[in-house]
Amino acid sequence: MVPSGPMTRGLASSRWAILRIRLSGPYVIVRYTDSRGRRESEIVDGRTLPPPLFLPPSSGTLSQRVQELAQGLPDFRPGPHNTGPVPVALFVSPPPLVSLPEVDTDVIRFASTLLLDQNRLQVARLASGKPLERAPFRLPFRILATDDAATLALSNFVNSGWYSGSEETRAFGFQVATASDDAEAALRDTERDIVVTESAQALLTLLGEVSPRWRPRLVIALDPGFLQPAPWRLPRGVALLRLPHPSFGGSVAGYVSSFLHGLIHDLPLHEAVKAAVRQIQPLFTPELTADPISNESLRILQALAELKRQRERLEARLPSLNVAPLLDRARDDVDVLRAAAVLEPLAPPGYIEDAPIPGLTHLMRWVEHTRSLPRAFTNFEQEGQGLVPMAAMEAEYARLRAQESAVVQQLRAITDDPAVSRLLRRHQRRVLDVALSRLETSPLLEPLDKASTLAAGAAYKLRVHVGNPMSDSIVSGETPPIDPLLPDPEDARGHRLEVAIQGKAFEVLGERSQGFWLPEFGGSEPVYFEVRAPEHLGPTELRICLYYRNHLVQSYVLSAVVTSAEQQHSDSSVERLSVMLEFSRTERFTNLDELRPRALSLGVNSGASSATHELMVKADKAEAELTLFPSTYANEVKKFRDMIEAAARDPSNPNAPRSYPVVPAGQAPAADVQDTLRDLMRKGSDLYDAVFNKAAQRSTDLRKALVRIKKSANEKLQVVRFDDNFVFPWSVLYDFPLPDDIYGQAPLPVCLGVDVDASGKTVDCAHIGKDRVYCVRGFWGVRHYMEELIGQGTSVDAKVDRAAEDAIRIVADSTLASTSTLIQNLTTAIGSKLVANGPADADLLADLMWKDPPERPSILIVLGHLETRLVVGEPTAPRIVLVPQSKWLTRKLIADRAGNEVDGWKQPRSVIMLMVCESAATTAETVNDFVTAWNTAGAGAIIGTETIVGSGLSATFAEEVTQRLWSQEPLGKAMTEFRRLLLGQGNPLAFIFHAIGDTDLTLK
Ligand SMILES: [Zn+2]
Repeated sequence: MVPSGPMTRGLASSRWAILRIRLSGPYVIVRYTDSRGRRESEIVDGRTLPPPLFLPPSSGTLSQRVQELAQGLPDFRPGPHNTGPVPVALFVSPPPLVSLPEVDTDVIRFASTLLLDQNRLQVARLASGKPLERAPFRLPFRILATDDAATLALSNFVNSGWYSGSEETRAFGFQVATASDDAEAALRDTERDIVVTESAQALLTLLGEVSPRWRPRLVIALDPGFLQPAPWRLPRGVALLRLPHPSFGGSVAGYVSSFLHGLIHDLPLHEAVKAAVRQIQPLFTPELTADPISNESLRILQALAELKRQRERLEARLPSLNVAPLLDRARDDVDVLRAAAVLEPLAPPGYIEDAPIPGLTHLMRWVEHTRSLPRAFTNFEQEGQGLVPMAAMEAEYARLRAQESAVVQQLRAITDDPAVSRLLRRHQRRVLDVALSRLETSPLLEPLDKASTLAAGAAYKLRVHVGNPMSDSIVSGETPPIDPLLPDPEDARGHRLEVAIQGKAFEVLGERSQGFWLPEFGGSEPVYFEVRAPEHLGPTELRICLYYRNHLVQSYVLSAVVTSAEQQHSDSSVERLSVMLEFSRTERFTNLDELRPRALSLGVNSGASSATHELMVKADKAEAELTLFPSTYANEVKKFRDMIEAAARDPSNPNAPRSYPVVPAGQAPAADVQDTLRDLMRKGSDLYDAVFNKAAQRSTDLRKALVRIKKSANEKLQVVRFDDNFVFPWSVLYDFPLPDDIYGQAPLPVCLGVDVDASGKTVDCAHIGKDRVYCVRGFWGVRHYMEELIGQGTSVDAKVDRAAEDAIRIVADSTLASTSTLIQNLTTAIGSKLVANGPADADLLADLMWKDPPERPSILIVLGHLETRLVVGEPTAPRIVLVPQSKWLTRKLIADRAGNEVDGWKQPRSVIMLMVCESAATTAETVNDFVTAWNTAGAGAIIGTETIVGSGLSATFAEEVTQRLWSQEPLGKAMTEFRRLLLGQGNPLAFIFHAIGDTDLTLK
């Protein structure tokens, strides 16, 4: 396993180990770490070792670790410049402040003994100080020679035929400059990648004073005192290659030339040092000082990746000028004629060749040309296939760069046209696009197509952007037309979106979430993630989540097949790698302003093993991926449900529902009710810990986000169920600290969340997240607005139309005592024209529900027993009884109807209240079957019950919440206010009801 974090950013890293050796009294302490994240340490009594070799002899464990690293490395580099096996980089940190040069020599000798085959090992000194992450390396390699010795050392290289022949390569591939008199000014003048000098000590001191950006990545020291140790201090981010002065002999210039060619052949520093030694066999041993980051900071592969990013940035952002599909889609728009007059001249037939904007044609051509860039590791081995064409691309782009802004200016004049601007706002279409390319397999950095498998354990780069799909897209499903995607007009308002990756079986290397700017028109720039495919073979997946202000806008699932090496299916129509839209709250990214912020978003899906669940957490500046083990919460959830169920039954007559006397505002309820509430709080607190504790301990950002939620009220908290059967009582999570119970003392009284102020008005109590108190405001579902969504399909509108007639349908078992009260009260409150009773016949009800608005009601209230027992003449499936012994509503009826209708419900979609009451069969899972069926049908929101509930309370709930919704209170607020009301009156059954649907859902 490669540790995540800065060590693996950029391209997937090579293999390395670090050996830190310290002396403590007579003891020698050896600490080992490596690129696989393994750690070892050994302490040896130095007195037992013969002087002057007081280091421990080559240790078995350490040798074995280095041997394991070497085993996975190739025996040779493909291509004409193969010099031998790829070596492990072993960075050694000798004891500081040791005045004896022989100790230093001993340490290096000791490190060299860790591998018997010296060909597979390159020892370097570890640069002191924290490694510095540099900007990705881009061409050209900029070299500065500060003196005559440096010029002499570079003479072999600059005389190479391929180099001296091409001016373009000298400017954009490999620049060599000479600062004959003022090296300091030359360094401050332009950024340099490599400085060659005979005065290294003075130079390094100078570099320590300049900002890291102006420091070269490598200093090649031509040291006149090479035979003596040089304890120079390196500024952060700089590596050092120490060689003898050229006056030492002829092999120095040959060695430098061979080393620089190694960089052009894409070798990391330690390998370039080794390859040049093998090739030149100099009469000296070059000394490299670096760290795992600086060792990789001059990879030409990185420059190639940057060129490709440049290409992808342009491809994503350049307008396509394909206006026909847009104009066709907008053909009924009032602005279409005016807009067409402006847009159509932009796109003559064959517009690539004779577009009215020449700069655009040139940029598009550049994008095409870059597709011929090196595609294999071997390409770098020949300058003519690697460095030279890359330099040509850079040169061409340098000429085009100035045109890019001119093109944008010209196109902006078009989008500034009011008719065009209005048309785009209403009809422009953009999609999220994904591609996957290779980081460690061949063809290098090239995208995979849908017929390809992934290699087990290999690293890949995932690209995500919003705009037009690109040529290497692996998104499956409906292919949208390519839209013009013009630049934003002056008055545009874009949106900042965030993409987060839920790795699942993949390992996410480095950042798992990244933000990007989505302009109002046009495409976003791509963002990139690095992931490592799982080691186990077979199908696998990861999830891509797109958020706007912590509100999940879309989620996609990437499905792949892992094989031991990549395989291409001979039939290219076979999809083994694809990305599918799973859940969406937008169709064309035009409704983002309507998606209100969430303080937190949780996404839950079933885990790799069927028993576990995975939780994706997203909050401001925080994201995490957690695994939920049933052992940590299943028992607690069951206990919570048992407790609620017990509280719902009359203790003296368990078959009857229990009613709770109303407690005056600000007073405490009866002792047994307090006991129940305290138990619920303890359960809620345990559940909260089960979900978040471990993660919060690991992530400071997540802890901060949870504290913000603890200290706030009336925030919207989102839960998206990717596994639609994961019923979890989120609203009962309790995050206030609980008081300590003292043996022999009565527990603190329960606060019902309400107080009475001086004027006698009922107000919220003053308890906040740090009070140690039993207060119902510690529950998420009481203090905040909970939102639970089923993460499948598309739900883009949070509005439900208020129909003018029969807007509220009540389908209730008329034998229940509370049915007539419910109908009467709602009719009185809302009006007889608006409230309708029935139909009790399930088929007629389904007919009605599958009509379009306004015939379909805005709110449907179903009130009845849930029956699961087998009764002669009744369906065997669980059913909600509408008329005893004759009319039932089954899950199958809804599901069949949803499956048989071609179109789902059109907006506006109805709110369904499933008031399943007084039934021993009521379990969260059974009710959920009905909930998911209605969700599939297309309901705007579904309100269900958690466990047994009396028909009286059901009717009260339906009446109260319907009235709140009808008076345009958003769904989440209506639910929370009902819970607050019920708890404030001393009734602990507030948690029985929960809603699936947008917390902002409003009847309008
Ligand atoms: Zn309180």
